[in-house]
Amino acid sequence: MATFLFEDVIFGPVNSRRLGVSLGLNLVPVNRKVCTFNCIYCECGWTNDRHLPSDGFPSRELIADSLEKKLRELRGGGLLPDALTYAGNGEPTLHPDFAGVIDDTIRIRDKYSPESKVVVLSNASLANRPGIREALARADRNILKLDTGIEDTFQLLNQPPASISLKDIIHNLKLFDRNLIIQTLFIRGSHKGAVIDNTTEEEIKALLSLYNEIMPDEIQAYTIARDTPVTGLEKIPLPELEAIAARIEELGIETSVFG
Ligand code: SF4
Repeated sequence: MATFLFEDVIFGPVNSRRLGVSLGLNLVPVNRKVCTFNCIYCECGWTNDRHLPSDGFPSRELIADSLEKKLRELRGGGLLPDALTYAGNGEPTLHPDFAGVIDDTIRIRDKYSPESKVVVLSNASLANRPGIREALARADRNILKLDTGIEDTFQLLNQPPASISLKDIIHNLKLFDRNLIIQTLFIRGSHKGAVIDNTTEEEIKALLSLYNEIMPDEIQAYTIARDTPVTGLEKIPLPELEAIAARIEELGIETSVFG
């Protein structure tokens, strides 16, 4: 199906289901997807090359200059965004100077748009590295992915490299000591002949158990909204997401639903 890649370092602002008016920052190369995962629902398409490119990442200076220019322009028009969001063509923490980029963004945000939240969407696969973990913790909204509590589903749904298991991701999430938001994408479908459904009772129980162990500030439960590389994936209806959210809230964790 028709997935897409962002063509600029800064994109938007766009109206985001989860973040309000969001100005996007794409920290990975503009012409290809770069990620440690290869999620079957990724709106950027498949991860074709898991080897990190040695070039193509926008420099820290280019990102800072582009952001400053855009925020100046938006401020002039009186249309400052609710969020400055690291999203784009893959995993933002792969940027070789991710921590420096976070610091620049906070500084520029404070100068031009102090009400905007600095938001990172990450799969948490590199959060075991202290520099990356500390930078993620400096974001106003540190939103990290956990789609399942079952290893086989993790391998099918998120398709990490062989060196990363679900245990590694859980370990990384716990390192934030509750200073995180977990995003869980719910989906049904099949891939490589295997059925995938992270809404079954077994899956929900496994997730609830992990949410309870990790105790994030908040959980965002959502489903696909755009085209995906695997055809036939099923969007989870809003009432089902709401029923899952009600069970999460029984754990005492604030939960938002985005259908
Ligand atoms: S972690 Fe995010 S960017 Fe990477 S493959 Fe999954 S959905 Fe796409």
